[in-house]
Amino acid sequence: MQSKLPNIGTNIFTQMSQLAAQHQAVNLGQGFPDFPVPERLIVALARAMNDGQNQYAMMTGTPRLRQAISDKTERCYGYRPDADTEITVTSGGSEAIFNAVQAVVQAGDEVIVLDPCYDIYQPAVALAGGRSVHVPLDAQTFAPDWQRVRDAITAKTRMIITNTPHNPSGAMLSEADMHELAGIVQQHGLYLLSDEVYEHIVFDGARHESALRYPALRERAFVISSFGKTYHCTGWKVGYAVAPAALSAELRKVHQYNTFCTFHPAQAAFAEMIEQEPQHYETLGEFYQQKRDRFRAQLADTRLRPLPVPGGYFQLVDYSAISDMDDLAFSRWLTCEHGVTGIPLSPFYEAAPDGQRLLRLCFAKSDTTLDAAIERLRRL
Ligand code: PMP
Repeated sequence: MQSKLPNIGTNIFTQMSQLAAQHQAVNLGQGFPDFPVPERLIVALARAMNDGQNQYAMMTGTPRLRQAISDKTERCYGYRPDADTEITVTSGGSEAIFNAVQAVVQAGDEVIVLDPCYDIYQPAVALAGGRSVHVPLDAQTFAPDWQRVRDAITAKTRMIITNTPHNPSGAMLSEADMHELAGIVQQHGLYLLSDEVYEHIVFDGARHESALRYPALRERAFVISSFGKTYHCTGWKVGYAVAPAALSAELRKVHQYNTFCTFHPAQAAFAEMIEQEPQHYETLGEFYQQKRDRFRAQLADTRLRPLPVPGGYFQLVDYSAISDMDDLAFSRWLTCEHGVTGIPLSPFYEAAPDGQRLLRLCFAKSDTTLDAAIERLRRL
């Protein structure tokens, strides 16, 4: 049989989690919190199930949740998407990304992705019959080089995918970046897929530059969010896409025949959380900043060199003072021999920079977990 995804195997996150389990390693690999979700969310979820909200939800998401998302979007980004025509609730940010790509990418189209990038984009593009064109971010700062992006555009380019705050580096697009991007998408008539699942995890008083703040971007954009990241419940897989009515209509055609609708009781719980506890997302940056600062202070006692983390919940560390192994070998060695698991960076690239010695560590963990990891890392 000829595979439609010939180069895709088990992803690096699953591989490393399996290895971590085999070796009882402290797992700072896969990006999920190991602390509880907000109590209100659990209570509201149970109530929704007891109240009988257990059958298919509306295809586009419950009206109450879409209204809550619309209100929240206006509060955060000064733009009020229409709850009926511009917001679609999906089964995680992942489904929203897949649907957006299938909705607009045609066979033979090119889609620009900025490397290193999350591994979900390329298979979605490939299944749509498109081709990912990889443009590297700066190897030190992970900032885009817009001239390189412009140089990569051809008559076949249909879409560009951005991600801010960025997985794996935590880098964030600036206001100047957003203006550059707006110029590019307008000049070339491109669609933008703006992956903003870490939108509320931003540090040091910085502002998250959502594409929704910029009229020239939002009229061509699918903006992707994930409740899993915001509410510490990655396993619930609920997210959403905000896009202009015409683009949302196309995305919904895919959603309708992909999952049709998203887990109904969770939609009631998220609506209640957004309405009743806005301070949760308002203070999420502070919550994670404490974790980041504590973890970085502890890393100072190790031979790992932490890179700056403007946003998100990942810490990149340079291990070149410890070893010259490549990152796949180093992450296996660290798991098997020293009981700490991180994610190597090279799988996030089409072609990783030569000699790069970086590992991604997730600090969305309890202090106990992070302390256990640090105790082992100090011995390196
Ligand atoms: N985009 C990025 C950059 C991510 O890190 C993730 C989750 N790891 C997703 C999208 C997918 O989000 P979800 O878990 O809600 O499907």
